[in-house]
Amino acid sequence: MSTSDSARSRQETTLEGTLFVVAAPSGAGKSTLVNALLEREPAISLSISHTTRPPRPGEQYGRHYYFVERAEFEREIADGIFLEHAEVHGNLYGTSRTTVSGLLCQGRDVLLEIDWQGARQIRRSKPDCVSVFILPPSRVELERRLRGRASDSAEVIERRLHNSREEIAHAHEFDYIIVNDSFDEALGDLQSIVHAVRQRSQLQWRRHETLIAELLA
Ligand code: 5GP
Repeated sequence: MSTSDSARSRQETTLEGTLFVVAAPSGAGKSTLVNALLEREPAISLSISHTTRPPRPGEQYGRHYYFVERAEFEREIADGIFLEHAEVHGNLYGTSRTTVSGLLCQGRDVLLEIDWQGARQIRRSKPDCVSVFILPPSRVELERRLRGRASDSAEVIERRLHNSREEIAHAHEFDYIIVNDSFDEALGDLQSIVHAVRQRSQLQWRRHETLIAELLA
């Protein structure tokens, strides 16, 4: 059999995708980084969360969030639809269990943009998830970025600044920490993590079981 024949005869096993969790204090540039990562890595699906926060100008239902009333969200908690949920800055946020597990089963990688409380719940239920925390380069820069977000009221900005300390205090619980000073470097770091995770031996050993069997024959 030629090399190309044997390459063709190797069948890749479809494995469950990897669950990536990304957290950061508001203003660290997490969403911009994640959106740029998703453009470069189309095999990753972003999980769209449910929230009781009112939409910001330009935000769309089903694209940025599923915006719901608090009573509906509480019903959904009682129905067990969330893989994780938490109260953040006075609003409820949650990740749909069926959406995430459906995508993972199809072999898609899934990324959750959630807070440290949600990340903790995910680590408990999915210990093989990969978690990344994004830090701003300084307190001054965090404040500058938050105040530059014209869509949030002064009160909301103050609350987010105040809460940033609590979020940052949990950064050590994550597998990786990236400092978002130079955007391009931070994006490169995030992408390197994704690439490294995909080459982990426990995944590769199963993904290439036919190749490995052939090499060991
Ligand atoms: P924002 O209101 O700025 O979109 O998000 C506020 C915070 O809520 C951010 O830290 C964001 O990561 C977090 N968040 C968004 N969706 C979820 C979710 O589904 N679960 C949890 N636990 N946090 C979320």
